This record gives sequence, structure tokens and C-alpha cells, in this order.
Amino acid sequence: MDVFAHSLYGITVCSKTGLAGGRAGSGKKRFIEDSTLWIAGLFSLLPDMISMWLPFLLFLFGDRQDNFFHEFTDKNIVLYRYMHSLVLSLGVFGLIAVIRRSWAIPALAWSVHVICDSVTHDAGKFRTTLFYPFTDWGFDGFAFWIDLRALIVYWSVLPVVWILLCRYRRTSNSTVSL
Ligand SMILES: [Zn+2]
Repeated sequence: MDVFAHSLYGITVCSKTGLAGGRAGSGKKRFIEDSTLWIAGLFSLLPDMISMWLPFLLFLFGDRQDNFFHEFTDKNIVLYRYMHSLVLSLGVFGLIAVIRRSWAIPALAWSVHVICDSVTHDAGKFRTTLFYPFTDWGFDGFAFWIDLRALIVYWSVLPVVWILLCRYRRTSNSTVSL
């Protein structure tokens, strides 16, 4: 999944402005005042930030010889697999739930990232190995950089979710105020 969709899916599922806010939402007038939105946005990008953006910066300012994706091997792949493991992301979620409870649900955006990647990556080098390091197994999904239908589908789901969420909040809040 592309980086913009990742951040929006994380925010949609794991912030109070999004689905995690239920009927009440964030309770803030403006969505930018919702701290859970920013935390969910950060955690939704974390797997790629650490496993791809950092190696990309090193590649950019280093001794480049080939294409970044061709040079992305060995240690980079191991780090990529750890950062795209449901096992690790849920472990971090558990830890955060203990030390900073208010961050726990937004931190689940990391797991949402992993689940989204598991169906939008194929069985190649960037397969999402959900249960790494216990197994290298992963779905042979629809690679969004090859099959544009995957891109169209996941971008189409977002507005539908937000329209339904807004309608749900409007109707249930008007029922409450009656
Ligand atoms: Zn990713």
C-alpha cells in the first residue's frame, strides 16, 4: 500500500476522529486537535520509516551502484520483515498499553499497516511475513505497484468508510438528543 493510504487507513481505524472514536468521535471541534490522529498517523508510517526510509537515505548519500530496490537485500530485508511482523507490532501494542494506555489504540495503526501490506504485496521480496521471525509465510497478495486494481480498490474504500461513519454519528447523535 502506498504511504498516503497507509497514513489514512491508520487514522481511519485507530484515531478517535475515525472508527476508534465510535459514536462520539474525538470530541474536539477540529480534527487537527485530536492527538490520537497524529499518533495513529505516526504509527501507521513507522514500519516503512524504519525499514525503508532510513536505508533509502543511506543509499542516497552513500556509494550508490544499483537501483535502491535491487540493493535492498540481507540486513535490510530482515529489518523489513521485523517491521512488517504482526507479532512485533502486537508486542509493541501490548507494551504501550501497559506504559501509556492512551496511546495503545493509535499504536495499533502499525498492525493495520502490516495487515494492509499483507494483501497489497505479492510473494516476492517485499512479501509481508505476518508471523516473522517464527515463519516466512505470507499471502501472495495483489502487488499495488503492478496491479492498479488493488490501488483503486483500497482508495475507493476510504471515502465509503468516512461517509458511513459521518452518517452513523449524525443519526445516532440526533437520536440521543431527542
Ligand atoms: Zn510497509
